[in-house]
Amino acid sequence: MCDLYDELDMSLPFIPPRSRLDHLQPVGVGTPYVESQTSYVTRLAAAHHNKVSTLIKSEIGPLLKNKSFAPEKIDGKSYTFSKVVNGIDSTASDWVDVLKRLTLRTDLLFTTLLPYQNILTNNYLLHKSSAWCPACYQEWRDSDLPIYEPLLWKIQAVLVCPVHRYELQDTCPHCWKKQSHLSPLCRPGLCSHCKGWLGGRHEYPIRQNARQSLWYAETVADLLEMAPSLSNFPGQDAVADFIEHLINTCTKGSQGAFCKVVKISREAISAWKRGDYVPQLPAILWITFVMQVPIKVMLENWNLKQNERCQ
Ligand SMILES: [Zn+2]
Ligand SMILES: [Zn+2]
Repeated sequence: MCDLYDELDMSLPFIPPRSRLDHLQPVGVGTPYVESQTSYVTRLAAAHHNKVSTLIKSEIGPLLKNKSFAPEKIDGKSYTFSKVVNGIDSTASDWVDVLKRLTLRTDLLFTTLLPYQNILTNNYLLHKSSAWCPACYQEWRDSDLPIYEPLLWKIQAVLVCPVHRYELQDTCPHCWKKQSHLSPLCRPGLCSHCKGWLGGRHEYPIRQNARQSLWYAETVADLLEMAPSLSNFPGQDAVADFIEHLINTCTKGSQGAFCKVVKISREAISAWKRGDYVPQLPAILWITFVMQVPIKVMLENWNLKQNERCQ
């Protein structure tokens, strides 16, 4: 009998840490259609059969360093400043940290633009209110796929859906109201005012600058897709190096010729090259469009340079 007990392993089994909230996976990390952080919050609330306001009030708000979303401030009808939750500044990282603590997920950074915070500015970065592609919503519902809001639709320079080649919509087809990125009762795909379905089979052809609009959407999509695969997130000098690279390869080293082609002042180009400040996202997109150079060239060049420095 004694021998039998001696052979038993009485040590406790390894139990991985448990998350306080559902370990819900964000949709599409590593794809152009990665989910936005505000969408993740609404799906997390739904997973717990709670209102968004309850989730923020009872779980997220008390842990945030930034108290704009403090429990006593969230009884309004919509959260006007919620767009920054998907962006590049301390509010976005505050939410990522808190949601990571609550869900134990380590991939939530990619539901924001934080990987590119060194090469972006807040100006003209994010849509003030939500925009969406009704055809995408409809296809996901018809295929029984999760309904969510991709980060791509949150970017102000993205006005079209690169999949359906339709213009994004920003008013409910039932009550004609705009949608906040977060609101107390919101659910992806539904109007937060009348609860009407925002998907549909109507066509919304691109009315102007189709080639440019699609280039912008596809370029931002490339950025979002590449973020998780980068060994280093780009620093501010990535933009300066990229401009230098374009001047050398596209206009044979002539900064004057480059300024003429892209129709941007010599002063601005010089300041970007010196790294005094970074251009707004629409300016970067415009330059890649005029030069027809994919944005991945900037990221690849920068990564190559970092690897050389490490050797
Ligand atoms: Zn679409
Ligand atoms: Zn509505």
